[in-house]
Order: sequence, then structure tokens, then C-alpha cells
Amino acid sequence: DPVRPSGVSSTDAEHAAAIDAAGRIAGYLAGQGFPEPLIADSGNGAHLLYRIDLANDEAATGLVKGVLATLNALFSSDVITVDTANHNAARIWKLYGTVSRKGDFTPERPHRRSGIISAPAEIEIVPTERLQAIAGLLPRDEPPRRKKGGRGIDLASWLLSHGVAVRSTKPWNGGTLYALEECPFSGAHKDGAFAIQFANGAIHAGCHHASCGGGAQRWPELRTMHETPAKKEGSGERRVSRAPGGKEIEAPSAAKNSIPGVAKNPAPPPDEYRRRALEILRTGDALAFILDTFNKTHVGDRTVAECLAYSVASRSVENTNGLHVSISGNSGKGKTHACTTMLNLIPENSRLKGTVSDRALYYDDDLRAGTVFLFDDVSLSDDLQEVLKSATANFCEPIEHRTVTTERKLRVCTIPPRCIWWLAKVEDPGDDQVMNRMLTVWIDDSIEQDRQVFEHIKNHESKYDRGPTPDDIQVCRAIWEVVGEEVCEVTIPFARQIGSSTTQNRRN
Ligand SMILES: [Zn+2]
Repeated sequence: DPVRPSGVSSTDAEHAAAIDAAGRIAGYLAGQGFPEPLIADSGNGAHLLYRIDLANDEAATGLVKGVLATLNALFSSDVITVDTANHNAARIWKLYGTVSRKGDFTPERPHRRSGIISAPAEIEIVPTERLQAIAGLLPRDEPPRRKKGGRGIDLASWLLSHGVAVRSTKPWNGGTLYALEECPFSGAHKDGAFAIQFANGAIHAGCHHASCGGGAQRWPELRTMHETPAKKEGSGERRVSRAPGGKEIEAPSAAKNSIPGVAKNPAPPPDEYRRRALEILRTGDALAFILDTFNKTHVGDRTVAECLAYSVASRSVENTNGLHVSISGNSGKGKTHACTTMLNLIPENSRLKGTVSDRALYYDDDLRAGTVFLFDDVSLSDDLQEVLKSATANFCEPIEHRTVTTERKLRVCTIPPRCIWWLAKVEDPGDDQVMNRMLTVWIDDSIEQDRQVFEHIKNHESKYDRGPTPDDIQVCRAIWEVVGEEVCEVTIPFARQIGSSTTQNRRN
């Protein structure tokens, strides 16, 4: 599946990215002894169909789940995801030849007809041991943590301070899996390497390529590669044990002053992005850089972008209840687009994938402090209204919301501290108490804005204006990464001069 806003069809670029990824995954699985699959275009994304011959029981379901989890860990990125939900035998599937009609048909997000891209003459059965090999490729259980050596390594900080670039970060069996940008064990390929930190602190690193051990534990080796000084000075070998600023990073103490959880497992940006981010923060205008990058994708609405940026920054303020944003204005005028554009500029581990729903809050037990939640196009359930109310009232504290389902089962959702709430297209966010804590901003729904958006689309499609570079986006994320590393007190020297037209409603 391409990563895209929910409830709409994919753009041509998103659609192509999914089909491209399916080809890469099929290639990888062929190398792992899988027969040729049927490859299909779902209309929005891509399907790989493999024939299996297993009993319809729990063990088989677990095996299929395991295969999908491994593929998700190895291949999902900012651009595409492997849908791990497709593991049950009773799944209802696409009838190829039918048209996918998700959301409205627009030139940018058209409805497409699904269809078979390629099919082998005979669809062979995948041998069970091939499924087992993929399902068992990555360690699932925590390896025992070594006692000696005293304080443990914080893998995220270690990767960052040793210049090991991370492509994506995702939860892994209670811990975190970092997909590495380049394979440290081989020069023959770039993809495939990963490092996992389990909940107990134990670390496993490896690469899925057979030539690199097919996922075998290589963390001690990776560590030695970076921590042992090079034999010769200037031999070109890396001996970095310092952060770019020259300050030694010590994981446990560095975490003390940061947004708890945010800096604990940051996706370390590659050194170069961090270097540029630090340069902008020291000598440039970080806000302007972020807003300019935003405007390369979203025309106008600079004020909306500013409010969203301030709200992200408020995570790093000690003495605040946080700035949360509610966007008003006519529908269809880009409220969602503004939010998702800004969301894309913050680090992946600081945002909830997709939009907020009961499901996301109750079943995602990997929420981090400082997460940005986007409520998009939803009417809030009573439960969600309560959650929103207590989370915005107790910004600096974690909150626990308990409720009972219709089946009388207890459900608990825990919201970590310093989370930010963005409301776009929300019908009824609850009572005034919630709205009083929101920074309300209007989307530009003027005719002039409409004209400029149209011009932008034309420029973009004619490749006259290519939009933000992936580098700019990474630098924005690195800026937020750096800003998120500290929480500081803010004083407003002119606070005493602020007046309000009505005492009843200071929102005005
Ligand atoms: Zn490798």
C-alpha cells in the first residue's frame, strides 16, 4: 500500500511506488526460494499472491502473520507499507477487473481499474519451510541482556553518535527496529540491514541478505567496527564516538532533559541532515525554513502552517499546557492537506501513522511522548472527547483513560505526556473547555487561493516546479529532532501588555 491520507485514492506517484515495491519484494522472496507469485494492481496499490497449502488453524495463521511482519520490518518505509492485516484465510479479496472507487474521483487521485499485472503459467505452492524461514528471520524474543558492562547502550543515541544512518523506525515486539540506510556488512548492496533494541535493552543487528548471514546476530561486530579506533590515523576509517557538535553523547544522561520518550528512540537523522539542521538553528531562521518547505507542497496558508509549527515546538516548552490547533473553514479547501504536509516534516516517530481513531489510541501501545495526533474528518466519540479533554488539560503528565466496551470488556488507553492534538474537519470536538485550549486558525478559502492552488498543480505537473527536495524534508525532521532533545522554560517579556476584548472569552 502506498502511504497516503485515508479514504482517498492514490496519486499516480503513490500508485507507482507501491507497484515498484511489490516488484522488489517479489525479487527478494524469489531469492529466498519462493515460486513466482501472481502480481496484481489493486487500483491504489499492489498485490503479491502466493499459493500456500496449510491447515486453516492458529499455527498457520501465526506463520502467515510472521511472514508479513518480517516483510513489513524489512520493506515498509515513509512511502509504502506492507499491510500486515492480510493474514486470515477468510479475507475478502479484490475481484480483478473491478474499479476501485475510494473517495472522490479527482485528476490527482483518480479511480483506477484493478487488474492482474503478471501471472505465472502455473502458480506453485510455497514450501512451508520457506515460509518458516522468512517468519523466523528476525529475532522475535528478547535475547538475554548481558549483565556485565554496567549501563546499557541506548541504540538510537548510539546509531546517531556513530553516524549510522537510519532509514525508518518501527515498533518491534515491544522494542524498536531501525532499518539502516546502508548495509554496514557488505558493499554489494545497500538495503537489508537492521538493528533492534528490545524492551529489556538487548540489541540485535544483522542484514537479511544471505551473504550477510540472513539476519544472524552481528551486533558485536557492528559495535566493534565503530567503537575500536582505526589503526592508522587518516586511514579513512571511521572512528567517530562523538556527536557532530563535539559533545560526547551519553545515552542515559542525555535522555534526562529531553522530552521523555521522544529522544529515547529517535530515528537518528543522517549526520549531514543534522549538521544542516544545527547550522540553520544556530545561524539561520528555522521557522522560515520549515514554512518555506511546507509552501513548496502546500500553497498559501502560511498562518495555518505557523500555528502547526508553534504547536510542535510547544512540546519543548517546560511551562506550558501545549498549543493544540483546530482548523476552521470550508471543507474541500485543503485543511487535511495542510496538516498532512506539516506532519510529513516532523520525524516519523513523533507522529501517529494515519489519523486518530479509537482503534489507534487503544491498540497502539507504542505511543511516544510528544506524539502529534491528527484528527481528520471524524466526529469524535464520547470516549475520544474525554481523552482529548484530559490530555490537553494535563499536557505534562501521562493520562490513562478507562472505558468499558459494549461487550463489557475494560479498555485502557494511555496517552504519554506532551502530545499535540490537531483537529481538521472535526464536527464536534466536545465542550468549550476543549476549544478554549485550542489555537483556532482559518484555512484560506478565497477565490484567489483557489487560483494559486490551481497554478501550483499545473506548475508541479509540468515539472516546472518540482516541490521540496527529499533533503529539505529530512532537514526539517532533523530540526525537530534537535529541538525535541531539550525542554526549556520560556518567558514572554511583553506578557503584561497583552489585553483581551472580552473577559468571558479570552480566546478572542
Ligand atoms: Zn548486508
